[in-house]
Amino acid sequence: MSKRILVVLEEKDGKLRNVSLEALTLAGQLSDGGEVQAVLFSSQAASFQNEIGQHGADTLYVIEGEAWKTYTPDAYSQALVQLIEQAKPDVILAGHTAMGKDVAPRVAARLQIGLVSDCTDADVQEERIIFTRPIYAGKAFQQKAFLEGIVFATLRANNFEVKQSGRQAQIIPFEPVAVDLRTIIKEVVRKTAGTVDLSEAKIIISGGRGVKSAEGFKPLQELAAVLGGAVGASRGACDAEYCDYSLQIGQTGKVVTPDLYIACGISGAIQHLAGMSNAKVIVAINKDPEAPIFQVADYGIVGDLFEVVPLLTEECKKALQ
Ligand code: FAD
Repeated sequence: MSKRILVVLEEKDGKLRNVSLEALTLAGQLSDGGEVQAVLFSSQAASFQNEIGQHGADTLYVIEGEAWKTYTPDAYSQALVQLIEQAKPDVILAGHTAMGKDVAPRVAARLQIGLVSDCTDADVQEERIIFTRPIYAGKAFQQKAFLEGIVFATLRANNFEVKQSGRQAQIIPFEPVAVDLRTIIKEVVRKTAGTVDLSEAKIIISGGRGVKSAEGFKPLQELAAVLGGAVGASRGACDAEYCDYSLQIGQTGKVVTPDLYIACGISGAIQHLAGMSNAKVIVAINKDPEAPIFQVADYGIVGDLFEVVPLLTEECKKALQ
């Protein structure tokens, strides 16, 4: 049975986030010929119309105006509630991003609909969508299906394919009525301007307490620059003030699924593994051959990271020339 699916898109630095394209592709697969709707909070939405259509949307609702320039929980959740009441989707998909994590439960609570977060897979079985999500810090997977009603699902980045389906999206402006705002954003100060977004990065070079200082992150940053990757960290490195907590990967940090994760001077505590063990290829560089990180690594290098990482950078430079 065909389904109407609404995708909540996100724009970052003038581009659609990759997880939004993943969500659009998935919507096309799950809709089984039904309508794929998308919504974008942007004054530049027209410039994305083609891309959004090509990735599977039939309809693009555009919400623009001062209140929606920057994400606030009140403005976005109230606008989405009004849109969902009008557009009547069966399923709503969004990225499991800072915004998606915040807005989805608010909308689900207001509309009294189902919520399933941080999905790594979704499939249709006997006309029902089965969502898969990791639990117990990634040690097990839970499958969830809803017997009735609308479902809001957030998707973990880098877990779904991006495909073009060549549809054409029709733009429909949507003007939410009187939203009740308790916060106004005056300015956004970005700490990591210009760097690759950790949660969507395809390559991550991560440092632990073994980097020994803030200065010790430099070789990792150089390798990341050569590979076009992002720099991450263990909580050990963040607690030691070698880097900012925004880089922390793990159970209480960011959960990432890159194609390549290079762990440098990270022991491999269970809480760290919870954030990165689903990476497609894991490389560990550690002085200690008994370090637990080697148990999850596809490739292990026993050695001093201050010798190994610069060598790796030089070799990658040569290979990529
Ligand atoms: P260490 O365990 O000290 O490991 C340092 C490693 O560096 C060692 O294996 C050592 O052999 C190696 N090394 C040292 N020098 C070199 C060198 N020159 N070259 C190569 N290798 C070298 N941790 C997280 O990362 N993320 C989380 O989200 C997180 N959440 C937590 C939540 C809770 C509730 C708790 C209790 C803990 C959490 N932790 C988290 C902390 C976690 O338990 C570990 O303490 C932490 O991951 C250790 O960081 P580390 O591997 O950098 O440091």
